[in-house]
Amino acid sequence: MSRYLTLDDVDVDGLRVLVRSDLNVPLDEGHVGDDFRIRSALPTLERLVGEGASVTVCSHLGRPQGADPALSMAPIAARMDELTELAVRFNTAGDITVIENTRFLAGETSNDPTAARRIANGFDLFVQDAFGSVHRAHASTVGVAEIVRSVAGPLLDSELNGLGRLLTDTDHPYTVVLGGAKVSDKLGVIENLLPKVDRMLIGGGMCFTFLAAQGREVGESLVEESMIETVTKLADDDKIVLPSDVVVGDRFAAGSKYQVKPVTEVPKGWLGLDIGPDTADEFAGLIVESASVFWNGPMGVFEWEPYRSGTETIARAMGECRGFTAVGGGDSAAALRLLGLEDTVSHLSTGGGAGLELLEGKVLPGVAVLERWVQ
Ligand code: ADP
Ligand code: MG
Repeated sequence: MSRYLTLDDVDVDGLRVLVRSDLNVPLDEGHVGDDFRIRSALPTLERLVGEGASVTVCSHLGRPQGADPALSMAPIAARMDELTELAVRFNTAGDITVIENTRFLAGETSNDPTAARRIANGFDLFVQDAFGSVHRAHASTVGVAEIVRSVAGPLLDSELNGLGRLLTDTDHPYTVVLGGAKVSDKLGVIENLLPKVDRMLIGGGMCFTFLAAQGREVGESLVEESMIETVTKLADDDKIVLPSDVVVGDRFAAGSKYQVKPVTEVPKGWLGLDIGPDTADEFAGLIVESASVFWNGPMGVFEWEPYRSGTETIARAMGECRGFTAVGGGDSAAALRLLGLEDTVSHLSTGGGAGLELLEGKVLPGVAVLERWVQ
């Protein structure tokens, strides 16, 4: 694990502080959609202002190729100003100054030293608080932290501690629950965590590649042919638990006909869209009795009501577990929120790609670079 300083280690009074936050929110015709990330970023900024720092915040927004007015940070600053008592201003001095989209800057994504110097110019301290961006070696994540004294912000620190508990010194029994659409997205996580866990429960679309690898008939279910060989070796591991029953639909649609079937009896032409009730109960029992649980990926197409029950049972079991419970992945977090259960888990990760890379055992460049400022 990387070492780094946090805000508890520095006196920021009178310092000009640049914060890298994750303010990459969905925009709908120039208006901020879900402002969850803005609200999450604010406590760090408010704390810094309260401690006497002059605060500037930057983030990327979308994937512009150079400057693009449609992806300006101006509406983000306006929404942030509504959400806090402090004065938030775009590109002019406020209590909090929001500067323009880091990806407008040539050299941001290639981590060009000139771009990094431009970002760093005029600041005494850099606070990296954008967990969702630290897996990328960009000028605003790595380059700037090579120039200005840098620390991890509270959001980043909490993600590294929360997800870190799944990698080292994990309390046992340790259960990992994986679902979602594709095995290929999660293969690195499966391979890195399998030796550490007591059992790995597999649901979602990815279970059908495992079942197909065992020679089962899975009808029209989602199967990644290219992954079958790799998965065959994994599926032999006794720690891997696959569904015993599934909810199948007659087509991939919200209003499809559906029925519960044992995995051995998926009808021709039908496809598996959720784990079945027996499987959900078995998984829930294993989750509840665990000391540590990590869950990533919905158990079915939870967006459609008939295929939500497996995900809901898992989500409720996470809440009932008295051990350490962590949830990662955008859709899994969305499922928890849909069910109003987001406050029932110990750690809800927001990091997407960065979270997966951390759990794959990869070094996150935006975190590793912070180590140089540790005396
Ligand atoms: P996360 O964002 O939590 O990491 P993923 O992006 O990997 O999760 O997967 C989420 C998607 O997987 C959801 O949109 C869900 O509809 C889909 N999914 C889950 N089960 C199935 C299935 N059996 N067949 C097809 N898609 C599925
Ligand atoms: Mg997703």
